[in-house]
Amino acid sequence: MKKILVIGGGFAGVEASIKLREYNFDVTLISERDYMYIYPLSIWIPTGALDFKDAVMPLNKLSVVHKFNLIIDSVVKISAKDKKVECKNDTYSFDYLVIAVGAGKAKPEGIENTYSICGAPEESLKIKEKLAELVKSGKGRIAVGIGGNPKDPSAMRGGPAFEELFNIDNLLRDKGLRSNFELSIFAPMETPGKRLGDKAYALLNRFYEDLKINKYLGKKIKRFENGAVVFEDDSRLESELIIFVPAGSAHEIFAGSDLPLTEAGFIKIDDYLRVEGLENIYAIGDSASLDGPPFRGKQGHVAEMMAGIAAYNINEQETGTNNYKGYKEHVHILCVMDNGKGAVYVKRDTKKETVIALPVVGHWLKKFWGWYYKNSKLKKIPRIPGF
Ligand SMILES: Cc1cc2nc3c(=O)[nH]c(=O)nc-3n(C[C@H](O)[C@H](O)[C@H](O)COP(=O)(O)OP(=O)(O)OC[C@H]3O[C@@H](n4cnc5c(N)ncnc54)[C@H](O)[C@@H]3O)c2cc1C
Repeated sequence: MKKILVIGGGFAGVEASIKLREYNFDVTLISERDYMYIYPLSIWIPTGALDFKDAVMPLNKLSVVHKFNLIIDSVVKISAKDKKVECKNDTYSFDYLVIAVGAGKAKPEGIENTYSICGAPEESLKIKEKLAELVKSGKGRIAVGIGGNPKDPSAMRGGPAFEELFNIDNLLRDKGLRSNFELSIFAPMETPGKRLGDKAYALLNRFYEDLKINKYLGKKIKRFENGAVVFEDDSRLESELIIFVPAGSAHEIFAGSDLPLTEAGFIKIDDYLRVEGLENIYAIGDSASLDGPPFRGKQGHVAEMMAGIAAYNINEQETGTNNYKGYKEHVHILCVMDNGKGAVYVKRDTKKETVIALPVVGHWLKKFWGWYYKNSKLKKIPRIPGF
């Protein structure tokens, strides 16, 4: 039986391992963490609306249920032509490789003065601590920002920044402290959120107005300092807590590996998710360069879709039927943008934009999705087709 190595235990790697097992391949998943971190749920950790343990899914439980091998180790180098993956503790060979290690983060000067909800999972707990300190002191300034990657707009991630900002606003209102706090959003692009579509973008702007959130948009970030964002024109945004969502860039292991990369640092793939110029190597999720409509963005549901198609195509290749499926036509935007007490459902594809405000029920729908995601992956409940 062909040996398939999947590297990375996030949305993409977990889904690829599950789907490849359904085709009966011998699958080994290598992950540096022994759990999958469910990023969409992590937005509630800083405000205390969710415990850290509820945003994670243990990979060993998944490996038992789906019968794939699990190795907890850090990949340091991929030798694609030699068909070897070098990890800290060992080196592994493969017949097929699925690369799903996510993306690296673009690092503006002084980034250590910011907190991120997009990097190491434990950082969400540091934000929680800092936010609790500010709430205890009764007043403060909080800035939430988004970084851009001019070489690849699909690597910019606005959703979590908007959600964190609105959740913090909601927490402060619940505590009767909102008028003692300044909340700001900053980004180098003039119109962050525009790719969600005109209707969703207009709604975002209405939220800033209604919630009295200061906007520092279209201002390039020069550097971060302790307690301040410094913009290109040397103006400053002083804040006790700066939460920053950097743009995605090349994962650090790509530099020493023999993989074809775009200028922005993502792995070049074709429509069938095969890495350009290499045999039996696929790249999916945030690691891969994403093609598709101009408003495309790297998202969890896109990573899962890519994983399913990669598994299908590997099976087509192995069985010799070669009836491959492309991924590009399936790329679309889907998000449930939560504000702590409700949410807005946004779907955008090439045909239409759908925006539905879901006060109260939207918040619980997103929470339900988290419960459903974990329990259905662990086969405790059946999957609902298309959900
Ligand atoms: C705060 C936040 C909220 C989000 N909300 C949404 C949302 O509501 N809806 C949505 O669709 N998308 C959302 N996203 C985007 C979504 O989470 C990502 O697109 C998705 O996680 C990408 O999946 P991935 O498997 O490619 O990468 P990741 O989830 O980043 O997984 C990468 C995996 O590789 C492992 N890894 C990394 N380096 C190594 C190494 N050297 N060796 C071994 N293993 C390694 C990591 O431990 C991790 O398990 C959100 C993102 C963030 C940050």
